[in-house]
Amino acid sequence: MHTKFIFVTGGVLSSLGKGLAAASIAALLKARGLTVTIQKLDPYINVDPGTMNPFQHGEVYVTDDGAETDLDLGHYERYLDIHLSQRNNYTSGRIYNTVITKERRGDYLGGTVQVIPHITDEIKSSILSLANDHLDVALVEIGGTVGDIEGLPFLEAIRQLRADLGKDKVLYIHLTLVPYIKTAGEVKTKPTQHSVKELRSLGIQPDIILCRSEVPLDEDIKAKIALFCNVDKDAVFTAIDVNHIYELPLTLYNEGVDQKIAILLRLAAKNPDLRPWQALVHNLHHPKTAVTIAIVGKYVDFKEAYKSLHEALAHGGVANEAAIHFVYVNSEEITPENVREVLARADGILVPGGFGTRGVEGKIAAITYARENKVPFFGICLGMQCAVIEFARNVMGLKKANSEEFDLTTPDPVIYLMKEWFDFRTKCVQRRDMGSEKGGTMRLGAYPCTLEKDTLAFAAYAQTEISERHRHRYEFNNAYLQHLEEAGLVISGTSPDKSLVEIVELKDHPWFLGCQFHPEFTSTPMRPHPLFKDFICAAVSNSQGKTK
Ligand code: GLN
Repeated sequence: MHTKFIFVTGGVLSSLGKGLAAASIAALLKARGLTVTIQKLDPYINVDPGTMNPFQHGEVYVTDDGAETDLDLGHYERYLDIHLSQRNNYTSGRIYNTVITKERRGDYLGGTVQVIPHITDEIKSSILSLANDHLDVALVEIGGTVGDIEGLPFLEAIRQLRADLGKDKVLYIHLTLVPYIKTAGEVKTKPTQHSVKELRSLGIQPDIILCRSEVPLDEDIKAKIALFCNVDKDAVFTAIDVNHIYELPLTLYNEGVDQKIAILLRLAAKNPDLRPWQALVHNLHHPKTAVTIAIVGKYVDFKEAYKSLHEALAHGGVANEAAIHFVYVNSEEITPENVREVLARADGILVPGGFGTRGVEGKIAAITYARENKVPFFGICLGMQCAVIEFARNVMGLKKANSEEFDLTTPDPVIYLMKEWFDFRTKCVQRRDMGSEKGGTMRLGAYPCTLEKDTLAFAAYAQTEISERHRHRYEFNNAYLQHLEEAGLVISGTSPDKSLVEIVELKDHPWFLGCQFHPEFTSTPMRPHPLFKDFICAAVSNSQGKTK
């Protein structure tokens, strides 16, 4: 087998930035000319995060093939600039589901089905499914923290893989926390020692230890960790806190992490070309201007729920050499009376995706404000649907227009649950070979879209055929299409057969656009998404107009 595997585990506590560290290491290996992919194994029992509340688990990230995945996959795609699929994220639930389905089918020929070997074998085959002759390295991040009960089968599976594949094919990296105790003025290595001890008790001896720390660790501390944890002295690295997440690849490079990996795994790695990362970090630190973007949504107190959105806006800032000042506004607190005051400082207003009725009227009030006051507006998924409702109510005069999601008895369901959708979705399910219960309720994954010339959308993409990712149930109701167009709504993007409206926009406005898809999933720091780039550009013009 050509592919080599790097397993990244975490210790001490969660939220140490394991996903970002894994993504940064992968990016460094890619910069060294290696072909790299990355996978996340999540120990929770949900079959995928699609059913999980964003307040608890953060954003559900959607891949081209319609998999609903952990938000770490968003980091992986952004750092590596590659498209991942449902093979890049497995949960315990998914693994058990497969094993139980096989058991019911009689595949185990009457044997007793057990965690070892059946569950662990299934985990191993999910990991090994990444391997191919053209892939040099697969990084595999194990979710959770060493010591969690539910993580045990995953750790056992990766332990076995070293024996199965050989030492030069498998590397273990363990990320821990080395806290700095202010009163004592020193860092403490004990949590790291305990965490590695726990890992070793499961049969895994890490090769590299990454120590998250707010101060650089000196050689003595590293030597102490190396001694107590039984690793090479030059295999202990500081993963220091960074101001901006995109500094992390350079920070880890300066520590020598990727070089050590290349030596240990005997990788044919060249010197890395880090100029794009250096330029990016330079750009982030030296903005020429600044804009305030108001994000009017429901999950504003839990930023993880808008991870990709936040990043895509930052990328739009990079493209315009503008620092973004993010203002998250709870739409439940917006009313037609206070909207002017609440949004007065915003150079651009964004209404993101969401589900359910809560806060919808506040979003609509924000859109009225953006439309009437010519503030650049970007509506994504639910945000686009709200823009259509707002236009129908306040420009067309259909006062009770709504989405069937919020009011099933509305006389004017401008956004509705498509009846044809059921046939359409059956085809999708067959085509994508997805679980029927998923395709059954949502339009998920990448769909083609055709753009009209002379529109904001076409100006942004500079091409007519695009593909974007979706995650929603409701659609624009074509029964209202002609009337809305006559009233001035521009339909600038549709499915190639014109049956689905994908982008709406306004003329006589500096920049007002709503899209049914989620462009934030495909924006990367090196290739900012065209819609985010143009939205921020419009916000910059707006802010400069204000100061004149
Ligand atoms: N709730 C809307 C729907 O299901 C929008 C979903 C979204 O914004 N992702 O169609």
